[in-house]
Amino acid sequence: MSLTAVGSLAFDSVSTPFGERERMLGGSAVHFALAANFFTEVKIVSSVGEDFGEAEIDVLTSRGIDTTDVERVEGGETFFWRGSYEYDMNLATTEETRLNVLESFVPKLTDGSRGSETLFLGNIQPHLQRQVRAECEQSNFAGLDSMNIWIENERETLIEAIGEVDCLLLNDAEIRQLTGEANLTRAARAVLEMGPKIVIAKQGEYGAALFTEEFFFAMPGFPLEDVMDPTGAGDSFAGGFLGYVDKHRDELDEHTLRRGMAYGSVLASFNVEEFGTERVARLTEDEIEQRLREFRQITHFEI
Ligand code: AMP
Repeated sequence: MSLTAVGSLAFDSVSTPFGERERMLGGSAVHFALAANFFTEVKIVSSVGEDFGEAEIDVLTSRGIDTTDVERVEGGETFFWRGSYEYDMNLATTEETRLNVLESFVPKLTDGSRGSETLFLGNIQPHLQRQVRAECEQSNFAGLDSMNIWIENERETLIEAIGEVDCLLLNDAEIRQLTGEANLTRAARAVLEMGPKIVIAKQGEYGAALFTEEFFFAMPGFPLEDVMDPTGAGDSFAGGFLGYVDKHRDELDEHTLRRGMAYGSVLASFNVEEFGTERVARLTEDEIEQRLREFRQITHFEI
């Protein structure tokens, strides 16, 4: 059991109504890996510049995350994202995106990451997601995340990439944007027709919903009183979900997918409690299991 993830390793400058941070460690692959690592062995495929130092790599490697396939470009600069949130923290406003080393990135996978059974194609240019999907021939469960700028600027390639995976994870607004369907259930059906067997609509503080041809399942958001920074919540959710799925690959049924949704929700809820990776980087398994039980209690009812 192991999980390969391609995505951005980033410096993020973020402002929310509760504070701001300059150039903190971020990126889709970082948030994903820190969450998935609680369940399975994670290997990251990405590229960074010279400005990505020992301290940043240490956050990953000290948790046992494999960074062998993170290429370091001499003289290059790491991907940079600047975003802000208003009081409705479900809406991120992108103020600046500098692809930097990701602009010319060609993924080079060693046998280790090529051999994983499970794959996460995190938010990055869709043509890179397709390249990694094609290289990982042994992987038989792949999830894909993306965002509005790729839906707008690389729509055709993104739809091809979606057709090559088993599970699409997107924000509800992005699923509507991708399909042109205002109704989320219809929009999810339209995505199922593109190829994936599973569609997960991430709904920010309202939780997440899973659609397949056979069943529907939804988790609410955890009722948190202090939400500092939602950046990376979607990737933490994906890490919890796919990490759990990878750990239970020999029993990949409806129950496993439902529990995966629960773990995804738990990891996302911790991620938003502090800025960037601060909270998840020091999270413990006991805290995860405790919140899972609380989630179970708040979603339980008798008839
Ligand atoms: P999310 O889970 O959607 O909040 O993802 C936030 C992370 O995505 C941030 O840490 C950013 O560095 C990263 N990100 C933002 N825009 C892009 C982009 N265009 N490509 C790749 N990663 C991005």
